[in-house]
Amino acid sequence: MQRREFLNLLAIAAASGAALNSRDLLAATKPGKFYELPRFGNVHFLHMTDCHAQLKPIYFREPNVNLGFGGALNKAPHLVGEHLLREFGVRRGSREAHAFTYLDFEAAAKVYGKVGGFAHLATLVKQMKASRPGALLLDGGDTWQGSATALWSNGQDMVDACLELGVDVMTAHWEFTLGAKRVQEIVDKDFKGKVDFVAQNVKTTDFEDLVFKPYTLREMNGVPIAIIGQAFPYTPIANPRYFTPEWSFGIREEDLQKQIDEVRSKGAQVVVLLSHNGMDVDLKLASRVRGLDAILGGHTHDGVPGAIPVKNAGGTTLVTNAGSNGKFLGVLDFDVKGGKISDFRYKLLPVFSNLLASDKSMEALIAKIRAPHEAKLGEVLARTDAMLYRRGNFNGSFDQLILDALMDVKQAEIAFSPGFRWGTSLLSGQGITREHVMDQTATTYSYTTVSEMSGEMIKTVLEDVADNLFNPDPYYQQGGDMVRVGGLQYAINPLGTQGKRIAEMRLGDKPIEASKTYKVAGWAPVSEAARDAKTEPVWDVVETWLKSKKRITARKLNQPRILNTQGNRGMA
Ligand SMILES: [Zn+2]
Repeated sequence: MQRREFLNLLAIAAASGAALNSRDLLAATKPGKFYELPRFGNVHFLHMTDCHAQLKPIYFREPNVNLGFGGALNKAPHLVGEHLLREFGVRRGSREAHAFTYLDFEAAAKVYGKVGGFAHLATLVKQMKASRPGALLLDGGDTWQGSATALWSNGQDMVDACLELGVDVMTAHWEFTLGAKRVQEIVDKDFKGKVDFVAQNVKTTDFEDLVFKPYTLREMNGVPIAIIGQAFPYTPIANPRYFTPEWSFGIREEDLQKQIDEVRSKGAQVVVLLSHNGMDVDLKLASRVRGLDAILGGHTHDGVPGAIPVKNAGGTTLVTNAGSNGKFLGVLDFDVKGGKISDFRYKLLPVFSNLLASDKSMEALIAKIRAPHEAKLGEVLARTDAMLYRRGNFNGSFDQLILDALMDVKQAEIAFSPGFRWGTSLLSGQGITREHVMDQTATTYSYTTVSEMSGEMIKTVLEDVADNLFNPDPYYQQGGDMVRVGGLQYAINPLGTQGKRIAEMRLGDKPIEASKTYKVAGWAPVSEAARDAKTEPVWDVVETWLKSKKRITARKLNQPRILNTQGNRGMA
């Protein structure tokens, strides 16, 4: 680094009050040994998940609220900020601390730069594959959705990018929202002979036949291995059923045990599950199923620095979760001797785009994909005075922006926005482009809704979502965050039983009355009726609002009063 650049960084860090010292600053632009990860053993898995179609480097702020209760209390993945750093021995102010936590987010983002980007990820994948002959690249899904170009190309941009990246095995979730026919077309044509699309838990509703291959058997450096696929079990509930009307989903624990036993009987010495269950579900599954060496997990977007060992009747299963938005690449090495695993190493590598050279052929592909849309994507709709982000159990500033836009444009007193965990972050002062708006809203069912809802119905909606998030049994958790709420205030007791978590609902200074009706705006409805109504997409509503404001002041986050969080390390 040049002296001038260094002084510049120092000034940025000082002005923003970042807890960075000169050692961190010096390390900020030099790769040093950051990506030196010596090969260990003879079986190697590279794992990416939940990139949500982010082909370009982005900012992504990790949550400061990720509550766990019961068996999940104060354990990964329900640790935020300092608690996460302490658990995994990461130093505050370091590059890793920036990758894994929300701490000093804006200041650190200015120093360490953007994360992810397929051209930079490609360089890292190539480097890891070069040092680990035979290594396989596994994609945990939520890959073909989450950006404007993915939506506009019906997922084709991501399919092409994944083929270029050299994905070997994949499973899925949001992919299904492109519709069953489109998924099958990609699997049968684009991926044929190149990428194994695996899911042991997707069956036809009529004869219960498997829709996809349940697993793939390979040999790596002389060791027979198996990768079993587990798609998101709640796809037809969390997303519209009409996209996959003839397929049924589920955790299907017993089927999984049969598949594990089958691949073991065929000689597999290392068996891993490529999972889109979400980490809490994976941790429970690992305690109940025998014969898995690791579960490489996604869906809940938890960037967990370590592999969590879980004991079960067959031994120990490692459980990992590799974050989201192209921010991380997990590297799992096993040393197999005489047919048995003797040891392992796991590292979740953050993808820092200014430390990894851009891979030229991937860069060219991305440029080609974006060229016809570049002007439209880059148009600045407004400027933001404050940081915009989404992640967190209850609200994020970009969600608040969407709620404010919905209430203003639709003249509604209350608004709901889904608790999606995808969506990139913006730093204060940045222009909000059309691409940024699409990063938060691009789904195949982003219709807006305006309805008259009774106070009782509003409570039912909040109770249902709260149960998806806080049901004490992880098998009933669907892995999203709490629905974001505009206008309405409420209190939530995560430890309450189903139907009894929400209280103190108010609109302004008036309590919500069960029998009274309220005008409620929302988006992303799952019903067929809402689809057939063909209402305005939410990105148009947000765009209208942004253009009318031009400058977006800091949003006041509407947060519920949250009970029983004393001592909870999932809250900063
Ligand atoms: Zn997912």
